[in-house]
Amino acid sequence: MKKVTYALSLLMGLLLGGCSSSPSPPSNPPKGEYLFRRHDEQLVQIEPMTPFKRASYPWEEDWQCNYPKITKDFFRCQGSSLNPVHLMEKNKEVLRFYDCGGSQKHSLPLRDQKEFIYPILIDLLNYVQTKTGKRVVVTCGHCCPDHNAYLDSSPANQASKHMLGAEVDFYVQGMEQQPSEVINLILAYYREQPKYKESKDFEEFKRYEKEDKNLRTLPWYNKEIFVKLFRKEEGRDFDNRHPYPYISIQVRYDWERDEPVTYSWDKAFRNFHRW
Ligand SMILES: [Zn+2]
Repeated sequence: MKKVTYALSLLMGLLLGGCSSSPSPPSNPPKGEYLFRRHDEQLVQIEPMTPFKRASYPWEEDWQCNYPKITKDFFRCQGSSLNPVHLMEKNKEVLRFYDCGGSQKHSLPLRDQKEFIYPILIDLLNYVQTKTGKRVVVTCGHCCPDHNAYLDSSPANQASKHMLGAEVDFYVQGMEQQPSEVINLILAYYREQPKYKESKDFEEFKRYEKEDKNLRTLPWYNKEIFVKLFRKEEGRDFDNRHPYPYISIQVRYDWERDEPVTYSWDKAFRNFHRW
């Protein structure tokens, strides 16, 4: 009995002693800092998390299909310094073409000190995406001069409007084999939009009859754009290595400035930031 009382008093003493005086560090302290609990400390109550729907970004609003709206970001140069050097033999001389570093190394073309892609291209691609409910895949938007030469160094491509932000290559996912339907939508856009159909300059599309050895399909054109259809084995370059037919839209006329869109060395080589 005496032993039990002694043990109890020893335990009480230890407990009370532990509360009234700060404990001394153990003789063989573990590595790291010793943490002491304060007497007024309370456990933090964490509110249970409830899922919430975030607010829409502007480009998602009023969106009728599940795909993000096409913006000028979709047009950034597809160049990459990881792409292999492209060798070309010309006049018994081997020419080497290196790709650019891509959009991490340079901007889009500029207008009024802002990155600029001709808005009609963005509007048309969004129209196609909304009407079809399918994703538009931009394979080639802006090409800086290095990337343009890397894709195709032939003289015919040296004045490419891809360098001005005035040309785009694309196909529609899920409609890869129906490019004619997509082109019909582009033609329909001009008949629908009041800006065009009520304009005195409105004209129906015509077919470009001049022979082009690289194309089996006659291109379409009106005052503002020029539309080409590249079939499965046509127009294959490094950006268009996919196996599908694709459509190219080129801007001929700047509706906003009321002037033709023409290539110039300054616009292609000097009108973007390099970083
Ligand atoms: Zn580039």
